[in-house]
Amino acid sequence: MPVYEQIVRELRQAFPQPVSDRVHDAYFVFSFLRALDQVDAMKSAMPLLGKPETLDYEAARACRIADDPQPLEQVTARLVEHLSGLFIAGHPRTQMNVVPAPTIASIIGGLLPSIYNPNLVSDESARRIAVAEVEVAAIAAALVGYDPQQSAGVFTFGGTGTTLYGVKIGLEKCCPGAMRSGIPASARVVCSERAHYACRTVTGWLGLGFDHLVEVPSDENNEVRICLLETMCRDLLKQGQHIAAIVATMGTTDAFGVDDVQAIVEIRDRLVDEFQLDYRPHVHADAVIGWAWSVFNDYDFAGNPLGFRKRTVRALAGVQRRMRHLGLADSVGIDFHKTGFAPYVSSLVLMRQGADFQKIARSPETMPYLFHDGDYHPGQFTLETTRSGGGPLAALANLSLFGKNGLRALLGHLVSMAENLREHLEGHFATHVLNGGNLGPVTLFRVYPDGVDTFTFPQKERTDPACRDALQRHNAYNRRIFELIQQEALQGRGVVISMTDCYRETDYGEPIVALKSYIMSPFSEEQHVEYVLESIWRARAQIAAEA
Ligand SMILES: *Cc1c(COP(=O)(O)O)cnc(C)c1O
Repeated sequence: MPVYEQIVRELRQAFPQPVSDRVHDAYFVFSFLRALDQVDAMKSAMPLLGKPETLDYEAARACRIADDPQPLEQVTARLVEHLSGLFIAGHPRTQMNVVPAPTIASIIGGLLPSIYNPNLVSDESARRIAVAEVEVAAIAAALVGYDPQQSAGVFTFGGTGTTLYGVKIGLEKCCPGAMRSGIPASARVVCSERAHYACRTVTGWLGLGFDHLVEVPSDENNEVRICLLETMCRDLLKQGQHIAAIVATMGTTDAFGVDDVQAIVEIRDRLVDEFQLDYRPHVHADAVIGWAWSVFNDYDFAGNPLGFRKRTVRALAGVQRRMRHLGLADSVGIDFHKTGFAPYVSSLVLMRQGADFQKIARSPETMPYLFHDGDYHPGQFTLETTRSGGGPLAALANLSLFGKNGLRALLGHLVSMAENLREHLEGHFATHVLNGGNLGPVTLFRVYPDGVDTFTFPQKERTDPACRDALQRHNAYNRRIFELIQQEALQGRGVVISMTDCYRETDYGEPIVALKSYIMSPFSEEQHVEYVLESIWRARAQIAAEA
């Protein structure tokens, strides 16, 4: 037998068998199980796998492909090594960011398509995985208040991708033919100054240019200032500019500020009349975080059948008050890989009018090898050609696993833990909650040394330029607190939280550093909230001792 045939024969064992072979299936599953076992050996009380490591890119750049195949076991062992040092998002001692622990159902949802590579470019390839995408889009549409008969959605490469679709379609509405002839210099995108930087990415990549992104100031609750938004939009129209899209941020990344999308849509409609526009500026809701709260749209808050605590009910209802108007937006971005507990990447962009997608469709002649058969050809308008079935199946998995009450219970639990933390932080003289009016799972706060009056000073240092030195000193103080808390957490004590360099700017333009607790783990309990507090007090004491 020629050598190459020998190699092919051996490599066949490394593929799932195309024809039923249960012995080989056992080998397949067992290989995965072995890898899981090796990962399990890396778990400890610490909120990370293995130990903290310094990353060696020098060695990484020295890597080359080997001459000969390696056994599967060796390959998986090598892969597992690369998990060492990863934070465990689902660990109750992790309160870092809006990174969820994926459920088993959604992990299986992500894995199954990866065995068969259905391509969501078209149902010729994706078959019932394409149907799954339509199912998830319908479920999500009904949740956010769209008519699932009218609406349509596709999965894309992340939250940034969802905003890209919103703006791209808006661009085509305000400047028809832009897809063909290019973008006129008059096109603008309007968003809040607290919007995700994805808005910048999108205006840059679409060719509108960063400079043509209009950022409207926000209020203390990190919501866009509605009357300023109206004034700034009116000014743009007066100057003869085109508004491609207004992006409403429904849950900002750091502080969970939620824009008033109802008011934004009203302003848009008013301006259309006032200026007799021949297009309707597209309103895109960046709800990649906030969408999940729409499961509360038909929750009986008065009866509270799930038995949430009063403060939690108030917080959930407070967010729902805004989120229930999501259906007014022309498009919505949804990340199942954030508040939907799915593995990366599972992002859905929904159009209220599914027909809007046709505005960015290519003509079939340009894609000769595709779309000869079947009824569902999202590849005619999606940015990507190949799209994985993993996103929709992971989303479908969790929507099925949770139902409305499951997601309500999980979100309610996270929010009640966060409320608990806020209650403690607000009650203590040395801490100040920055997003105090906030009702989500994230808490931004600052810690102060002894002698600072936290009833009045935080407000003063935010507004009074005479406080610049003190503000900078406190920024440094909070950075140091963060370092100490982090060090403890990496020793399995306390909790991993995170820090943001600029929660927002002071009225005189200095960045305000904040500590951030983002509670996402379904395993978090009140004791973990206490660990955060204890860790803060120890860090304060240590800094005081160092001084
Ligand atoms: C995370 C986030 C994004 C970006 O989404 P990815 O899924 O990380 O690409 C956009 N907008 C908001 C508000 C976000 O929080």
